[in-house]
Amino acid sequence: MKKYNFNAGPSILPQSTIDNCAEAVKDFNGIGLSLLEISHRSKDFQAVIDEAEALFKELLGIPEGYSVLFLGGGASMQFCMVPYNFLEKKAAYLNTGVWAKKAMKEAKGFGEVVEVASSADANYTFYPRNFEIPTDVDYFHLTTNNTIYGTEIHKDLDSPVPMIADMSSDILSRPVDVSKYVLIYGGAQKNIAPAGVTFVIVKNDALGKVSRYIPTMLNYQTHIDGGSMFNTPPVFPIYGAMQTLRWVKEQGGVAAMERRAIERADMLYGAIDSSKLFRPTVTDEESRSRMNICFVMKDEYKELEADFMEFAKGKGMVGIKGHRSVGGFRASTYNALPLEAVKALVECMKEYERMH
Ligand SMILES: *Cc1c(COP(=O)(O)O)cnc(C)c1O
Repeated sequence: MKKYNFNAGPSILPQSTIDNCAEAVKDFNGIGLSLLEISHRSKDFQAVIDEAEALFKELLGIPEGYSVLFLGGGASMQFCMVPYNFLEKKAAYLNTGVWAKKAMKEAKGFGEVVEVASSADANYTFYPRNFEIPTDVDYFHLTTNNTIYGTEIHKDLDSPVPMIADMSSDILSRPVDVSKYVLIYGGAQKNIAPAGVTFVIVKNDALGKVSRYIPTMLNYQTHIDGGSMFNTPPVFPIYGAMQTLRWVKEQGGVAAMERRAIERADMLYGAIDSSKLFRPTVTDEESRSRMNICFVMKDEYKELEADFMEFAKGKGMVGIKGHRSVGGFRASTYNALPLEAVKALVECMKEYERMH
């Protein structure tokens, strides 16, 4: 049976990424050795990391004066690296969900944290708007796409202080004005690569402003100076990232990714909004994520949720169970997901509706 992969992360990757990774594991660049058994300092691998960095810069239009890093530790490690490197006294955070809260928790270990706005009272079902970013803080941190709750901000804010974003789950799904940020980070396993690598885009001259000692491995400057090779980098996922970045470019870049994301999201939200059985959890249209689409069964059909899950599984739908803090269903519709998969899910929902 054909499988439709709606996993939230690790998640669907372009077929070319999978095929080329498989080939490189067997024989990398025709050198007669596996990608898994060569030095990260070999010429062949240096070319991979150089291309991944160059493609990142090209696709997102990253200005001069920024570095692109490929690190270990996940987005979760960035929750502490960010305050370590940027928080001298006080920082402002936008509280839009579990990941944002985890980032805030780490920052509190380094200084004062101001919560600029929060949608916690509404179980994070909307993306806060019209808040004021304080001017007396070292930086402002936000999560642009809330993977668990399915809310997203689709534009780059103007911030009076240095702005830092967790873009784990919406990176490369729309054009970003990188010049508005001093740092953008994310786990690559949602939209770019197999698990194991974290991307960091950092403005070089924004660093070096805190007075504390920063441990070598947690200091961004170490990794800028070392070209992401201060220590052994995650070789295999970096290769996967390079393959996906090539694919994004071939497909027409981030503008094309955004067009497709809108097409997928419009189709699925349209089906949910007009459904007899289902309803969306994010009703504020401006807050709706194009990457993670959450929905539940209407109260009067609630007892059908487990049955629909089984039905959908039987139609090849994978990974549509909602996060435990939201319940119901979540379809993650990342860059590599073909429109055909959304069509199949909509068809599956309609067929189930006809049965009830
Ligand atoms: C998945 C996710 C994380 C956590 O990523 P790890 O790489 O597992 O640490 C952080 N932030 C967001 C928005 C995520 O979606």
